[in-house]
Amino acid sequence: MIKRLNRADYDRWASQIRATGGCRQPIHLRGKVDHYDQATGQLLHRYTTKHEPDGVLRVPCKTRRASRCPACAETYRADTYHLIRAGLIGGKGVPDTVTGHPTLFVTLTAPSFGTVHTRREHNGKVQPCHARRNAETCPHGHVMSCTERHSKDDPRLGEPLCPDCYDYTGSVLFNALAPLLWKRFADSVRRHLAKTGGLALKNLRHHLTLSFAKVAEYQRRGVVHFHAVIRLDGPDGPATTPPTWATADALTQAVQHAAQAVSATAPAHDDQPERTLRWGSQLDIRPITLNGDLTEQAVAGYIAKYATKAAECVGTLDRRINPLDNLEAFNLRDHARRLITTCMHLGALDELAELRLADWAHMLGFRGHFSTRSRRYSTTLGQLRAAREHHARDTDITTGRLPLFEEDTVLVISEWEYAGKGHSFGDALLAAALTGTRLERSPYEL
Ligand SMILES: [Zn+2]
Ligand SMILES: [Zn+2]
Ligand SMILES: [Zn+2]
Repeated sequence: MIKRLNRADYDRWASQIRATGGCRQPIHLRGKVDHYDQATGQLLHRYTTKHEPDGVLRVPCKTRRASRCPACAETYRADTYHLIRAGLIGGKGVPDTVTGHPTLFVTLTAPSFGTVHTRREHNGKVQPCHARRNAETCPHGHVMSCTERHSKDDPRLGEPLCPDCYDYTGSVLFNALAPLLWKRFADSVRRHLAKTGGLALKNLRHHLTLSFAKVAEYQRRGVVHFHAVIRLDGPDGPATTPPTWATADALTQAVQHAAQAVSATAPAHDDQPERTLRWGSQLDIRPITLNGDLTEQAVAGYIAKYATKAAECVGTLDRRINPLDNLEAFNLRDHARRLITTCMHLGALDELAELRLADWAHMLGFRGHFSTRSRRYSTTLGQLRAAREHHARDTDITTGRLPLFEEDTVLVISEWEYAGKGHSFGDALLAAALTGTRLERSPYEL
């Protein structure tokens, strides 16, 4: 720390750190950007990291995962919030007539893979977990009953009453097939809507667009749920009106039908037959209205919150697992460890190679995107980022770092290379102080 503070280029270092917005693990880039006059070939301006502190430019890591970098995840969360919200009430290039389009908030769940400890409240009172009179005793000697009223942070929540009875294979196969199930679900909704409108499926897009934004949420038991905003637009997206027959009721029926109709099959493996997986029977469909019980703010906030979370809330690791890793050393709870070892075991089988379960063991088998939107939903994260970068570039120009050129007369040639990431111990402390962020881990782990 003292060394950094005493360096002549401390101010420049501090301004780089401020520009990363408190990123915990900034990427270090080495390189240069040259601006040439296209007509004469004359070098007009050169920016090089040679004169930057330590010869590198530090840029934010841009992760969406709060467990890795709270500051960048917060940026991602806020961007996600604004784009979900724009899809509901307009803004950011989406006309506000979109509020008149039929829109539902839909939650698709996973089926049960065995009884787990749960916490339910009724009229503000916590209910017993699984109180069963004459409860059965399983072949492993566990009584299938639990009369405890679990507290919110009880680590047993989501864990099976009997781990040996729990269907770990089913759980990781469901996660692995969930993206395919979602795709089939969306296709089925389109087919059902086409039927409602008396159209051939291939003509549906000339009348109607199914727009959606969805997010995956891990439940404590280690399976994914999907929460989705599903909206009906006209043929050219949110600026066009859907046909009159395409109502919220028609969409509700299509969603109900599709959630039951679709399935995905995992091939036979080991001594197990092939297996068909479907959505769970719990299906929640709620209309989103400007002044109803489910407001657009609530929905946008909800989706944005889950967009920055991954499986670590289940107690797994937030990075890839190497087959040679000693899982004992990570101090995982039994449930998370069994889910991971099931992925590693199934991932080694030729029959299931396509599911790449070993690569995604830390995600408990799920290899889909956490937060996705259909092309027409609203603005994109890329556009929001570009707007922010454009703003940053304007600031650089006004503060004299970048010369102002007519864009189409200048040839810009950039050369960048990765030169590491993160902070030293002392830098991490200084960066936290400069940006008002907290050091959540021990600096020795940074
Ligand atoms: Zn970051
Ligand atoms: Zn319990
Ligand atoms: Zn058992």
